[in-house]
Amino acid sequence: MIDGRLVTSKRTFPSVNPATGEVLGYAPDAGLAEAEAAIAAARRAFDTTSWPTDVEFRVHCLEQLHHALLEQAEELRELTIAEVGATRALTHGPQLDEPIGIVRYYADLLRTYPMSEDLGEMESRGMRHHRWVEKEAAGVVGAIIAYNYPNQLALAKLAPALAAGCTVVLKGAPDTPLITLALGELIANHTDIPAGVLNVLSSSDPAVGAALTTSRDVDVITFTGSTATGRKIMAAAAETVKRVFLELGGKSAVIMLDDADFSMASMFAAFSMCSHAGQGCALTSRLLVPRKRHEEIVELIAQNFAKVRHGDPADPNTYMGPLINERQRDKVDGMVQRAVAAGATLVTGGKKIDPGFFYAPTLLTNVDPDSEIAQEEVFGPVLVVIPFTDDDDAVRIANNSIYGLSGSVFGSQHRALSVARRVRTGTLSINGGNYFAPDAPFGGFKQSGVGREMGVAGLEEFLERKTLALPGAAVAG
Ligand code: NAD
Repeated sequence: MIDGRLVTSKRTFPSVNPATGEVLGYAPDAGLAEAEAAIAAARRAFDTTSWPTDVEFRVHCLEQLHHALLEQAEELRELTIAEVGATRALTHGPQLDEPIGIVRYYADLLRTYPMSEDLGEMESRGMRHHRWVEKEAAGVVGAIIAYNYPNQLALAKLAPALAAGCTVVLKGAPDTPLITLALGELIANHTDIPAGVLNVLSSSDPAVGAALTTSRDVDVITFTGSTATGRKIMAAAAETVKRVFLELGGKSAVIMLDDADFSMASMFAAFSMCSHAGQGCALTSRLLVPRKRHEEIVELIAQNFAKVRHGDPADPNTYMGPLINERQRDKVDGMVQRAVAAGATLVTGGKKIDPGFFYAPTLLTNVDPDSEIAQEEVFGPVLVVIPFTDDDDAVRIANNSIYGLSGSVFGSQHRALSVARRVRTGTLSINGGNYFAPDAPFGGFKQSGVGREMGVAGLEEFLERKTLALPGAAVAG
């Protein structure tokens, strides 16, 4: 969708259902010309319409968007299941219903969020001055998203960017273009959001995303994807000194202290690792256990992995769906096989399941904490177990990572909290507590990213601050 029009193209690329390997549909394959047209439309809408300044109208449009998403939720649900391989159960949470709640949250926040802040008077060089700060839209936003949670990633960027008064060019992921296009179509057909305020591109060519990162007409880049791509984006954006917001990869740790409820913690660790077949940036893929309790916990995890039901994501009883494509499945399998060749013990899993791109829940022990499998993001249902000697050792191992996205700690509350406070990550769950919600800032330390999505912090990523002053006790008019 460019400048309010649903654009078709002779050039298309296929979207494949990962549970069957069959082509689901074809998406327009945008090139650089379409990227430039979308950026120009967003620039025009920002520079020449009242969108950036009309807060009331933006609240109205976000309300409409929320309503339209609820109305169309069942169609979006079936498409999310078919294209993303998300299980039906997950679409009732972070794959669809929860992201719709993000739009509601920002519509409500915008009503009450103070767009100016009074600094009061000060005396300087014998005169009094009245100062205040006004917050205004940061400009044209280039939003680039990963394939794994396309509704969450798109709406956690769109809702606060639109609330702030920005205009947006959103580029979907090459593996999940149809669901992102469906969001664009819904906005075009069911809301008063003016032409050019939101433009949606689908493309098989990474150069289209790259064009957003170098354009002089784009003020902000908001990106969710791998750390490798995040590094390229940060470098590309440097030329035009763009604001860059990055949600990147993770290699988060779950720490079981020796006074934890092992049965409950093992169930949590095993099932969360298989959620969306391990394709989640914040999933805990390193399991840190007390050395003396290692065998017992490994046995419990293996028992829980055996209970994970994989299969048709549309079946409400399926817990684990497929990986997104064969390339991703080969990557996961390659990392597991290399780990075993390097001396790790394969307790369970380590194999592909056909048809579709399924991979068995995989548990590895005797893993070198500095090896590839313990340091690099797998993005599959693969859990590595690393023993520790005491709490300090657990914290040291958890922090032995270039990433800092998330984690969890199980144990007696006081002790678990004190360990959690020493782990350098943007989010942490203690004894199964859920931190993920529209009002809770989400993001990473270290090479897991820059900035925070959702919550008040998520809105402020898209605002500029302008400090103004008048002489005397004059009040802003
Ligand atoms: P990816 O980095 O391969 O691609 C992400 C997006 O970037 C795609 O739309 C792609 O077309 C685009 N892109 C590729 N090269 C580009 C370039 N040079 N310039 C601009 N855009 C470019 O990631 P993926 O494989 O789609 O997703 C998996 C990754 O995303 C994992 O690392 C995962 O941890 C991460 N992720 C992070 C979060 C988070 O919130 N931190 C959430 C979901 C996924």
